[in-house]
Amino acid sequence: MKIALAGIGKIALDQHVPALEASPDWELAATVSRHGAVEGVEPFTDINAMLDARPDIGTVSLCLPPVPRYAAAEAVLRAGRHLMLEKPPGATLAEVHALADLAERQGVTIYATWHSRMAMAVGAARDWLAGKTIHEGRITWREDVRKWHPGQDWIFEAGGMGVFDPGINALSILTELLPEPLRLLSADLDFPANRQAPIAARLQFSQRISADFDFRQEGPQTWDMEFQTDAGPMALRMGGNRLEIDGRHVQGADDIMGEYPALYARMAELVRGGQSETDLAPMVLVADAFTLGRRNTVADFQF
Ligand code: NAP
Repeated sequence: MKIALAGIGKIALDQHVPALEASPDWELAATVSRHGAVEGVEPFTDINAMLDARPDIGTVSLCLPPVPRYAAAEAVLRAGRHLMLEKPPGATLAEVHALADLAERQGVTIYATWHSRMAMAVGAARDWLAGKTIHEGRITWREDVRKWHPGQDWIFEAGGMGVFDPGINALSILTELLPEPLRLLSADLDFPANRQAPIAARLQFSQRISADFDFRQEGPQTWDMEFQTDAGPMALRMGGNRLEIDGRHVQGADDIMGEYPALYARMAELVRGGQSETDLAPMVLVADAFTLGRRNTVADFQF
């Protein structure tokens, strides 16, 4: 199936293009980007121009940041094409509901992806937790924004989500692992004095689960989830790719390269099956953190 990729920036080049090149399901047939391109693939700078010129392309995958994404997403669906969205699926919950409704009316697939749910050990961790009681859970998601989002000022603008851009990955795993819905009880958000989005956040959820998100971590990076259960300790490390039970490594590896191939395989499955998937549970928790969170002002941040 032919697919177009829009927003040729960091994640498109790091993950989407290699995943599509290796995919048995997809042929990357066009790109849409004002500055980026992929060698050997027809480039466009405007989404509507691409949709008009290439009626043979049935699916579009959007890798733009969340705020500018809606207009492109709506254009894709109105043109009757299937739509795949990077995480977070939009800037607001209402706009993603609107896109899901539009996709249904148009009879096309919409897939709001959560790449961290495709991490190697998430399924095994979910299976292991089933039927057990969690006494406590601690999430530590600490990474260096300068390394993963070099110069991306949009991430600290309103709607860019700040540290929740990676933090929502942890929440996408957590909402997949737990059999019961989580509830946010409190949040502390640290906003740099010169920015519109938080650089760090500490969250307390129901079920004695807490989270510590920080964008200022230099040196080793941490994407860990640790649980105390009635059957002993379990930990998911490396963003869901490595499972430890009782301190012993039992599954997965320190490798994230399987996530995007799995997303594109799932998209192929959804398109072929005439289905859609838009689970907004991780984004609801982030919206709740902005609603309920206490705001602290911290030092200015410059890239
Ligand atoms: P990025 O490189 O800053 O942006 C991707 C592309 O979107 C840019 O190259 C740009 O292409 C286009 N773009 C940027 N701002 C725009 C605007 N205001 N209006 C229109 N187009 C704009 O960002 P990214 O890191 O790839 O992230 C994109 C999405 O992927 C985000 O939702 C992020 O959460 C997700 N993601 C990122 C990572 C990561 O490690 N960086 C990992 C997983 C998921 P043109 O200027 O060429 O049009």
